[in-house]
Amino acid sequence: TALVELDGLSKSYRTRTGDVLALSGVDLQVEEGEFLAIVGPSGCGKTTLLKILAGLETHSEGGASMHGAPLGDQSSDVGMVFQKATLLPWMDILANVMLPITLRRRASKADRQTALSLLEMAGIEEFAGKRPGELSGGMQQRAAICRALVHEPSLLLLDEPFGALDAMTRDTLNVEVNRIWRETHKTAVLITHSIPEAVFLAERVIVMSPRPGRIIDE
Ligand code: ADP
Ligand code: ADP
Repeated sequence: TALVELDGLSKSYRTRTGDVLALSGVDLQVEEGEFLAIVGPSGCGKTTLLKILAGLETHSEGGASMHGAPLGDQSSDVGMVFQKATLLPWMDILANVMLPITLRRRASKADRQTALSLLEMAGIEEFAGKRPGELSGGMQQRAAICRALVHEPSLLLLDEPFGALDAMTRDTLNVEVNRIWRETHKTAVLITHSIPEAVFLAERVIVMSPRPGRIIDE
């Protein structure tokens, strides 16, 4: 069954110099439990598409739903990893990972346990009490992945998650993400410039055309 359904989705940004059409007529279904990758040249609307999935942007035309309800209504049911880890430097790793929970309610012992087992799964449990600045970029990105999963979202969104890392760290993290996905079978959508990365991680790869973005191959 489809978790996400996009039907003739279009998006234009209003700017001072006129409208910029970022996406045009995107039809896409994301199946429950699949790992989908989206590749395409810079500016084709990949980030825009992911932001719409995250409920961070609204679309201009077409239908977009998750669990059959309009996208945006369930933005808390999404976990997102950005190119930069964007951890809060004054909090330790455990507190950072728990943020999606503590921003909403008081964390329970079970929440703490969930966060700690995610850190363990990502191989960084010994850094739980450290500040982000004490960790390498790759370790910080592992923590960001834990943070995106801690509130058990239905959908994990990855926006060029390893684009800022060196090639070796990137390869290691790809292996880690692949292992985590095989353990959890969390529905995931990855944006990347790297076709090898897309092919390695995803079950299905979608190619978008240059502006305005539309799906040209699957
Ligand atoms: P990438 O190619 O890595 O996805 P971009 O450099 O295209 O990233 O965009 C980075 C950020 O800047 C995105 O959040 C995007 O929404 C925003 N952005 C891109 N182009 C414009 C623009 N013309 N005006 C305002 N914001 C923009
Ligand atoms: P990609 O992630 O594939 O690089 P983006 O989704 O960032 O593509 O951008 C798609 C198009 O929309 C680009 O032409 C970009 O300049 C434009 N764009 C993105 N964000 C904004 C924004 N906030 N305001 C205006 N234009 C934007």
